[in-house]
Amino acid sequence: MTSAICFDVLTLFPGIFEGFLSESVLKAALTTQKIEVRLHNMRDWAEDKHATMDDRPFGGGPGMLLKVDRVVPCVEEIQRRQKPGRLLMFTPQGRCFNQMFAEELATEQRIVMLCGRYEGFDERVAEILKPEEVSIGDYILNGGEVAAMAVIETVMRLVPGILGDEDSNRFDSFSTGNRILDCAHYTRPREYRGFSVPEILLSGNHAEIARWRKNNSLQQTKEKRPDLLAAVSENSHSENSPLKTEPKFSQISIIKNQNQCK
Ligand code: SAM
Repeated sequence: MTSAICFDVLTLFPGIFEGFLSESVLKAALTTQKIEVRLHNMRDWAEDKHATMDDRPFGGGPGMLLKVDRVVPCVEEIQRRQKPGRLLMFTPQGRCFNQMFAEELATEQRIVMLCGRYEGFDERVAEILKPEEVSIGDYILNGGEVAAMAVIETVMRLVPGILGDEDSNRFDSFSTGNRILDCAHYTRPREYRGFSVPEILLSGNHAEIARWRKNNSLQQTKEKRPDLLAAVSENSHSENSPLKTEPKFSQISIIKNQNQCK
């Protein structure tokens, strides 16, 4: 069986992925060959006996840079091994990774991911390979490995047949079902320390439950992530606001694929 999607990860620290790949949904997806993850130690492309991958920056300054003459041949060889994949290079300067970006990546057969370390890459890596530069947020990690894990985990959830319930990823926050936040969820016990489950969820009335969930989802978004609501109808600000009764989703336009991390 060939996997639906293959991730090639180029890293100096493949060991970081060991636990990540051997638990839970990812372990099952790998075992059943629904996805494939190949780890490549970039150090194997270093020719000197110390396997040097980094060097001091020209012009001075702190830290070390990943060497262009080590990284480029490594990526080129891995790309040559089969039909070249979509090449992502993790850097804080890149396009922000989000759910819509993940949906786009889930249509690929092969994704090749380049993880930086130290002060990052010699700029010529990007000039020569022309990768898509990708950031997972406005903060600095030690390396691109956590970013690669975020991409693998988010994209694999979108591969058909991996999650037990196909609907569960449609109605997740940010996802195709609504593009806003998911509603609140409850399970047993019905009461805990004086906090009860909303009555409507115990009613068995599916239409009313669906209405409550839509309303709650919109309310959560307004309170926690108003930036996701680009425009709500004029009415939504009035006393007769649809938000106070039933949300009219057609009246909400969602900010399209933002490229900047917030
Ligand atoms: N000097 C770089 C800068 O200020 O932009 C930071 C280098 S960081 C310590 C080392 C590597 O971690 C980067 O080359 C990149 O691969 C990865 N990295 C760090 N933060 C990241 C982020 N927010 N998104 C994606 N990759 C990140």
